[in-house]
Amino acid sequence: MTYATRSQQQKYQREWCAKRRASYLADKSCAICGTTQSLEVDHVDPGQKVSHRIWSWSAERRSAELAKCQILCTQHHKEKTRAQRPIPEHGTLSRYKSKIHGCKCDACRKANAEHKAYKVAQQKAAEAEIIQLPGQLPGQLPLFDAA
Ligand SMILES: [Zn+2]
Ligand SMILES: [Zn+2]
Repeated sequence: MTYATRSQQQKYQREWCAKRRASYLADKSCAICGTTQSLEVDHVDPGQKVSHRIWSWSAERRSAELAKCQILCTQHHKEKTRAQRPIPEHGTLSRYKSKIHGCKCDACRKANAEHKAYKVAQQKAAEAEIIQLPGQLPGQLPLFDAA
């Protein structure tokens, strides 16, 4: 079978993987709440995970990877992933912005302020590039008062 374009081939592969995944999950249920709706494959120990893109693999390789997995519904998968995530350090933007561990201590506020200053500087640099005309040096203004 030949494919006209690369994107068509990718689309075909995606659909084929989705079908495989759906048929694997067809008789499964969430390990926590037992629902059979919107199921996802979860690596029980993420440290043992090789990949989550297993559906294009050979049956043998796939079942070895699936042996390390459990089935969870979308919600419980999210909750588990969230609980597993390490708490970001103080003085980082992710700690300042964290939904659960959000912190406004001095170190975290400083990290946020630095990030904002960086964004502003980047924005200014981008604007300066747009304004700059060909042949004009960065930051050089046209001379109106040459006389
Ligand atoms: Zn569930
Ligand atoms: Zn903090």
